[in-house]
Amino acid sequence: MSVMHRFGFFSIYLEVAVKDYKLFFFDLDGTLVNGNALFPLANEVIEYLRKHNKRVFFLTNHPSRPREELGERLKKMGLEVGVNELITPTLAIKRYFSDRPSGSSVYVVGSELIKEEIKKMGIHVLNHSRETAMGEVFVVLGMSPNLNYEHLQEGFFLLQKGARLILLNPDICCPTESGMYLDTGAIARVYTSAAPRNHIKPEVLGKPSIWMQQVLLDFAGVDRPRAVMVGDSITSDIAIGQAVGMDTILLLSGVSKEEDLMTIRQRPTHVYSTLNEFYQKIKELAYV
Ligand SMILES: [Mg+2]
Repeated sequence: MSVMHRFGFFSIYLEVAVKDYKLFFFDLDGTLVNGNALFPLANEVIEYLRKHNKRVFFLTNHPSRPREELGERLKKMGLEVGVNELITPTLAIKRYFSDRPSGSSVYVVGSELIKEEIKKMGIHVLNHSRETAMGEVFVVLGMSPNLNYEHLQEGFFLLQKGARLILLNPDICCPTESGMYLDTGAIARVYTSAAPRNHIKPEVLGKPSIWMQQVLLDFAGVDRPRAVMVGDSITSDIAIGQAVGMDTILLLSGVSKEEDLMTIRQRPTHVYSTLNEFYQKIKELAYV
């Protein structure tokens, strides 16, 4: 039985409301992407929406790839995505540092590509903890397969000297076809548990942070009242959608499970078990 059917007449009202959406923001991992492949019907859903003149954007908290590379990766999986349709934590970094006085220094614990992206923004990037820093110092942490002990330790030296810790995303785990990967939030706990007197207070840039909310609102523009956020995580996707006043669709195909719905204050606008159920629903209701 579908999740929708369990909520009786209430869902009939919601099914009518869903017809007006003009903009769809999709999370990637656990929603359209499962590890290194698309979920079944991911491409069909996106094609269907585009064919019916809906605008589609893709949000990810995955911190290790620039937008161009992410676009290429999705293309290889079979999903054609324009760079300008991709929303990543890199855009939130830009937002964050554009609000600060110039002259900050950043040490990156994460991928080389993120380091390059930050350099392109004109921010001074430190190569190690002993280098003379300019202005306020930040350690930017983002999960990367190439992250090593030396980088983690250099970041910790800087944090002990008063640098501020920035997380590109808060997620503890990232779902893949082989199981859950340790994500940035889990690695950050190494720092917060090792720091004396808990003096490290990480700031988060990815979903659902205020920085990513601003990026989302920039993309939605005047169409925000007719935008919907689709994702698999209550704490990041549904939270960011609700924070900016959008409708939300939860797919139970990734990190959040049906029982998690019992513990939250505000339910997502719609809940579907899988992308398949979502696809059937949009066709059946002809809401596009
Ligand atoms: Mg996800």
